Amino acid sequence: MRTLSILSTTAAALAILYGAVMLITPSAGAQGRFVAAYPVPADSVFLGAQQSYMRQRTLEGLAAQMNGLFLLPRDITLELAECGKAKALYPAEPPVVRLCYELLTVLADELLNPKDPEGLEMNEAFFYLWLHGIGHALIRELRLPVDMPPEEAADQFVVWAVGSARPGDVAGALPGVTWVHSLIPSWDAPDSLDPDPTAERFQKTICLLYGAHPRNWGYVADRGHLGARSPAECVGESRRVRARWAEMLAPHLRR
Ligand SMILES: [Zn+2]
Repeated sequence: MRTLSILSTTAAALAILYGAVMLITPSAGAQGRFVAAYPVPADSVFLGAQQSYMRQRTLEGLAAQMNGLFLLPRDITLELAECGKAKALYPAEPPVVRLCYELLTVLADELLNPKDPEGLEMNEAFFYLWLHGIGHALIRELRLPVDMPPEEAADQFVVWAVGSARPGDVAGALPGVTWVHSLIPSWDAPDSLDPDPTAERFQKTICLLYGAHPRNWGYVADRGHLGARSPAECVGESRRVRARWAEMLAPHLRR
């Protein structure tokens, strides 16, 4: 098992999603913040990773970006932790987005290699996992009126976030989804007996992300990775999805 501590994941590598967000004083009832947490893992094999992420202030960087965007009714913790299983968790009380070291270890074993000394592929996967988890938490905490299964909704949040950013800043988002899906198809449904419980959702997410920045990811269409959907369909559907999310999120955004 490769040690996670060699990761060069930094706040910057998580993509500077939003260059110019005007800050306002949060109104009463919107005093929450995203906050970072790195509980000490019991298994010493994860200690190096915990120290490394803490030193790089990885989660603080992500929290700062999200705090620049959203008004929250209460705090949401972004946490890296030992869980006993390769998965991500989203406890509701108190609200936490938790990525497990076990999950990152599976990804690192596959993605960290001498051909990619910067850990770029690992960062791409990491970026997608966090946005997806933050999507879960925001849907719940902001009581967003989503009318689809929660996993699909969390992925649509990723599409909105990526679509709102400059294409170059989020170029890794689509490959990130692909890494996570192809390496650990059951990461979001660890108890599923289906060998690939997220296959259909994955296809949809790829289509919607492609549709958000088709020039960024032209190769996806060229290589036939959009499945049954045409590039034009993905662009149109992505636009509709992002417009719907922009409308849902508008009351909760800082301006
Ligand atoms: Zn999920």
